[in-house]
Amino acid sequence: MELWLLIGSAVLVYVMSAWLHPYVKCEACDGKGKHAGALFSYATRPCHRCSGTGLRRRFTATLIGVGKRRKTTSRFQRATSSFKDTNSG
Ligand SMILES: [Zn+2]
Repeated sequence: MELWLLIGSAVLVYVMSAWLHPYVKCEACDGKGKHAGALFSYATRPCHRCSGTGLRRRFTATLIGVGKRRKTTSRFQRATSSFKDTNSG
């Protein structure tokens, strides 16, 4: 009986932890939020997995609905609005 109390309180502490701290470091960019080029390492773009935030939502936070949903961005950056306006329409 005491074992179930111990397991229950451990689960409660874990869920509270995910509620208070719903994010962990993004593994793809090591929390930097940007990806450096292989050939020209000074050239960067936002990390496509975390959209440049450097954060990843914890699985438990996703289960309990805490934190913002991840937005993926393309590896290829969109054209700027001025460039798009002159070439479209
Ligand atoms: Zn990232």
